[in-house]
Amino acid sequence: MVRDSLAAVLFPSNCRVCERLLEHAARIPVCPDCLDQVQRIADPMCVRCGRPLFTPPIQAENFQCRLCRQGRYAFQLARSYAVYEDSLVRLIILLKHHGIKPLGAWCAQRLRELAQRYPELAGADAIVPVPLHPARLRERGYNQAEWIARPLARLLRIPLRPDLLARVKPRPEKLKLTRRERWEAVRGAYATTGRAQVDNLRVLLVDDVFTTGATLDACARALLRQGAAQVTALTVGRVVPQWTRQVREAPGSK
Ligand SMILES: [Zn+2]
Ligand SMILES: [Zn+2]
Repeated sequence: MVRDSLAAVLFPSNCRVCERLLEHAARIPVCPDCLDQVQRIADPMCVRCGRPLFTPPIQAENFQCRLCRQGRYAFQLARSYAVYEDSLVRLIILLKHHGIKPLGAWCAQRLRELAQRYPELAGADAIVPVPLHPARLRERGYNQAEWIARPLARLLRIPLRPDLLARVKPRPEKLKLTRRERWEAVRGAYATTGRAQVDNLRVLLVDDVFTTGATLDACARALLRQGAAQVTALTVGRVVPQWTRQVREAPGSK
């Protein structure tokens, strides 16, 4: 404690989210208030993809969102820790673009808590971080999904297997992609690696943000095609488009 405050005096630093002066030197340059702002997504949510439902359906039990009812996603179950907004957006940028690696461990602790509520997640045989294309990996120097997946694998005592899956098609150069472009960009973009044995494996995919679900879907398809028994997914953030917050969903008829 003494050393922490001393370090803070010697090297005063500010919270990288709210700019307030940090009282203690910490591995994560974010104040406790900003970290606490990231709140777990609560029920009701889609039982399959975990999308939070802001206007509760009449029958919230076993409710599936429209995309899940249409069978859009190849993964069996997905959950995200928090809605991708406010301070979580900054935290993910710090992890992804500023290389603040200890945030990966912080995320992993949140995901462990979440995984342990679902036997399908905590009971996986392998944890696979969503891979970057080799060119992107060279450019960035690290895969932020792996920075989350590695400590999570340790916490859940599940083998980490980044070797099982590769991104074989690069992301388009365009910075902002529409929903449709996102789905098109990842079609056939992932493949299991030549020597990978995924037969009968229950795979848990880990990524930083669930945007449209297209990436996780494409990864799941590649793994299932090679005989994976089940693919589930965990992300820290979940993009919840405005339109889904206002429109009331039809009750859960499948
Ligand atoms: Zn702060
Ligand atoms: Zn859903």
